[in-house]
Formats: sequence, C-alpha cells, structure tokens
Amino acid sequence: MTASRLIEITSANHGADLDLVYATPHNFTGKPIYKAAHCLLLEPAEACLRKAVAIARQTGMTLRIFDAYRPPQAQQVLWDFLPDPTYVADLVRGSNHSRGTALDLTLVDASGRALDMGTAFDAMTIESEHFHPGLPEAVQRNRLLLLGVMHAAGFTHIKSEWWHYELPGSLALPLIDNSESGPLRLM
Ligand SMILES: [Zn+2]
Repeated sequence: MTASRLIEITSANHGADLDLVYATPHNFTGKPIYKAAHCLLLEPAEACLRKAVAIARQTGMTLRIFDAYRPPQAQQVLWDFLPDPTYVADLVRGSNHSRGTALDLTLVDASGRALDMGTAFDAMTIESEHFHPGLPEAVQRNRLLLLGVMHAAGFTHIKSEWWHYELPGSLALPLIDNSESGPLRLM
C-alpha cells in the first residue's frame, strides 16, 4: 500500500479547522507523536469530509479536526501508553485511523468557539459515549448536531467516543503504512 491514495486535508482546500493534537503535547500521552502536522484521509473519506464541511456550514458551523490518518507505528505508541481496547484499537485489529477512513473532530461556531460536548476530545471516560444519560441537554444537542452532519455526509459513529467518525465497512480495508515515505513520520 502506498501513500498515494491518501489525500492531504488543509484548511485552505477543505474549509475545515485543523488542530492536529498528536503533533503537539496536547493529547492524552502528554507528548507529540508526529514530527509534523499533516492531516491525511483516504480518497473516499476525503470526499465525505467535503460533504460534511458543506452540511456543517449550512448550520453556521465549522469542523475542527484533531486527527485523521494515523500510521500503525503511532497506533503502537498510543496502545503502549493505554492498552485499553475500549479507547485504543489493538494492533492486531488495527485502527481505522490507520486505514485512512477515520477522523476525530468537533464543531466550532461562527465566533470560533468549540461547542460544549461535555468532555474533552480523547477523554477516556464513560461520559464520552454517545447518548450518555445525565449530560446537559445542550451537550446532547451539540453531539447530535455533529452526529447528524457526519451521518448525512456518509460517516458512521462508534459508541464510546463522541468525536470519532469513520466510513462504514472500514475494517475490510487494508492498513496503510506510509512510515517510510509519508509526511507523518513519528517523533
Ligand atoms: Zn478516532
């Protein structure tokens, strides 16, 4: 598998906000994992992202992406830090992020403020689950807005993380390893 099927997402070309947390210390490991901030998606996921951006815009919202394609080596770093399959895909199954079809994101309003989703991105708690009871109604509505945008664009969600979306059927696709030539080299 080559890197050629991965398309770089930029705010200029895609109209999304990028905050690539794994290129910074602002992630659950507390350290940067990627040497450089590149946001990559497999072609069909990139096409769905364009739809999602357009649908979100109709509601006055912008998508803010935290992570997209993740090299298998980066997945290893995350698994070593947190070997919990609820939140980190184990290495045999592999992450759909490493298939180029998954992304982590939230919604930002017209003033540039991220909507209140009840937990931070990558908070490994039960409150991160979709439809978790007891969260404020505004939080439930904000999550449902993101859910609606992403499903309308062709993505599906997973139960445990409000910020994670992926293309249906991703598990059947091969893992992509572009660690030799790709832009997402690890620290
Ligand atoms: Zn994810």
